[in-house]
Amino acid sequence: MDLSMRMVKNIPGVISHHWKEGNINWPMLIYIALVHVAASYGVVKSFQASYETLLWAFVLWPFSGFGITVGVHRLWSHRSYEAHWSVRFLLMLLNSIANQGSIYHWARDHRVHHKFSETDADPHNATRGFFFAHMGWLFVKKHPEVVKAGREMDFSDLKADPVVALQHKFDPWFALYMCYVFPAQIAVRFWGEDFWTGFFVAGALRYCVVLHFTWFVNSAAHLYGDHPYDVMSYPAENPFVSWCSCGEGWHNWHHKYPFDYAASEYGISSQFNPSKLFIDTFASVGLVWGRKRGHAAWQMGRARRDRDKAAGVPLPKPAPRPWEVDAKKD
Ligand SMILES: [Zn+2]
Ligand SMILES: [Zn+2]
Repeated sequence: MDLSMRMVKNIPGVISHHWKEGNINWPMLIYIALVHVAASYGVVKSFQASYETLLWAFVLWPFSGFGITVGVHRLWSHRSYEAHWSVRFLLMLLNSIANQGSIYHWARDHRVHHKFSETDADPHNATRGFFFAHMGWLFVKKHPEVVKAGREMDFSDLKADPVVALQHKFDPWFALYMCYVFPAQIAVRFWGEDFWTGFFVAGALRYCVVLHFTWFVNSAAHLYGDHPYDVMSYPAENPFVSWCSCGEGWHNWHHKYPFDYAASEYGISSQFNPSKLFIDTFASVGLVWGRKRGHAAWQMGRARRDRDKAAGVPLPKPAPRPWEVDAKKD
């Protein structure tokens, strides 16, 4: 099926919203439920935790976050820059602390998300509402169009990276260890924290918070915010999501120019983006190179838009949002 057919099939409100019992992904539903139970216990434990453990849990938010943003997102999913193997290895370790599935699986789903955004083939299709885009998509079996898109696309570059292959080989056990046990071991070894306090605070609680912060990119940043670069698309410029996710909330720009390593138009002084700072720091010592930007493409588009404006061509109508479609039905 070609892309246009997928688009036609996916007029918001037309697709099925039913949660059929046979469609539930029970192991994932139970796992995510347990993650939230453990995180709740982490809140209780945080009152017994030392100042160092609380600081450690806090610091692990951006650092595990970089494993997602700088690592599996901007490097492995989008190839927006190149990195020395030592940087890739570090990013793989940080990615494992974030424990969001192997780099291979995450990058595969993400490439499908970009190619088929807001269609049935999008793993976290935001036209199905906030909850589905945020975490509901994990609780149901993949839409057949998502599976099909994943089979049709090429991921040979991921398979060829030994760092990606190494992590995938030991998934999920290595990631579970890095996410829950390793933070506790550090806390025990360096400032004498109780193991289970380290486990539930720097492990479970921090993990659950970073999960939601990442999920906001798929939910909030696909539904709320401005659309200065592509008025037709759902992805939006969302400063709150950028704050949560180390600079991934400049999502309208990102979907327009996914090859841009900064994932934002401006630099870090005007758009919060610690992930860009991380990449630039490694570039300054020569361990990262080939950083791509989207400005040339954006400027080319600007010339065309100015021409259209002068000729009186009307701006395209923005894509309807789910609540607008629902309102029309009433
Ligand atoms: Zn997106
Ligand atoms: Zn992306």
